[in-house]
Parts: sequence; structure tokens; C-alpha cells
Amino acid sequence: MRVLAVGAHPDDLEILCGGTLARLASEGHEVVMCHASRGDRGSFAHGSEEIAAVRLAEATTAAGLAGARVQALGWSDGEVHAEDPRQRRQMVDLVREARPEMVITHHPDDYMSDHTAVSRLVQDATFLATVPLYETERPPHDVVAPIYFMDTLMGLAFEPTEYVDISDHFATKAAMLSAHQSQLRWLSDHDGIDMLEAIAVTARFRGLQCGVRHAEGFRQCLRWLRGTTRRLLP
Ligand SMILES: [Zn+2]
Repeated sequence: MRVLAVGAHPDDLEILCGGTLARLASEGHEVVMCHASRGDRGSFAHGSEEIAAVRLAEATTAAGLAGARVQALGWSDGEVHAEDPRQRRQMVDLVREARPEMVITHHPDDYMSDHTAVSRLVQDATFLATVPLYETERPPHDVVAPIYFMDTLMGLAFEPTEYVDISDHFATKAAMLSAHQSQLRWLSDHDGIDMLEAIAVTARFRGLQCGVRHAEGFRQCLRWLRGTTRRLLP
């Protein structure tokens, strides 16, 4: 199966569904990890261009640990807009290139606008990607892919409807996040949080909800054309 995961910033996928992506890749699925924004504003220590380069390198290392391929859309932090026709077109091209059978992205009510805009763009683009007269660089995709919303930051206002057992992949998830050294520093300095501790607590908490050691939670996007009788998550 081809899986496309789209997060707003480099490190979001690692935090919110890294264990699931690592598990999917280990089971032979083709996984693309895309970050929409370059992460070019999350630093006290570097300028925008400098931190963007650091973050692409960190994301590439993290994806490599999962056995996934990294893809970047090159937008700027705080400037992801669901109504932007240029961004929508780029998202459609991403879908047409990856040709996913399952998509994972942010929940529509996550904590900040880049996340919610990416969620909206992914929902719009996975439909538009199949419309032949919405012309872009690439040929249309042939399926409106089912979407799974990954957990919100700290699980706030998010009730999972499906769980993935990541007990055997939690170490990989932690290693993937550890690749984002610049962000672990930023999150500590800017938000006062140890994100490695946070993912351990969250994965354990989700695990307790479904009877395993470590888990990640998801909600299926239940809109017309997205429903499926098949379990797609591992
Ligand atoms: Zn983010």
C-alpha cells in the first residue's frame, strides 16, 4: 500500500504518528512523509534560511530511520492557508505524485492554524487530485484516498476511534524525534516542554486506552467517498 502522511512542520509527523509510519514501512508499505512548511521560524539561535536547512536535514534523517521518503512543500511557518490556490495546487501535485491508498494528516481542530490549514488542504487536494480537468503538472490520481486524522498535540479534545499498537516501534519513534535536535531545543526554550517525555507519556496513555504498552490514536475522516469497510491502519 502507498501511504502519504502530511504534517504542517518538520517533526509533527514524528510526534503524532511516527510509530505508525515506522510500523507501516517495516511491514513493507511505501511511506512518504511530507512537511508542508520549512520550519523556518522555529528558532532563537538561527536565521530563517539557516534553520530551514537544519530542519530539512533533521527531517531527512528521521524519515530514514522509519524507512520512509521525505518530501517538502517549501512553505513558510505561519503562512499555510487553506484558501491559497497556489498551495492547493501544490498539494494536489503532491497527491498525484505519491498516489496514496491511505492518507494521514492533522485533525481539523488541532492547536494552530498551519495544522488546521494543512488538514483542510489535504482533504480538498485528495478529492481534486482525481478530477481530470483540474489540470496540474501530473496526471490525475484514480482514487479519493481515505484519510485518517492523527492525534492532536497532547491529545487535547481528541477522542481516538482507532488505535495502532506501536509497542515494537516506540524506540524508532523516539529516535526519529531525537533527530530533530533543533526542535527539541526550541520546544524546551519556547514552550517549556520536553517533547521526548511528552511522546512517551502520550503513547503510554493511548496504550492504556487500548490495552497495549504504546499506541497512537487516530480518527477516520468520515465524509462521502472516504468510507471503507477495510481496516487500513496496521
Ligand atoms: Zn507543527
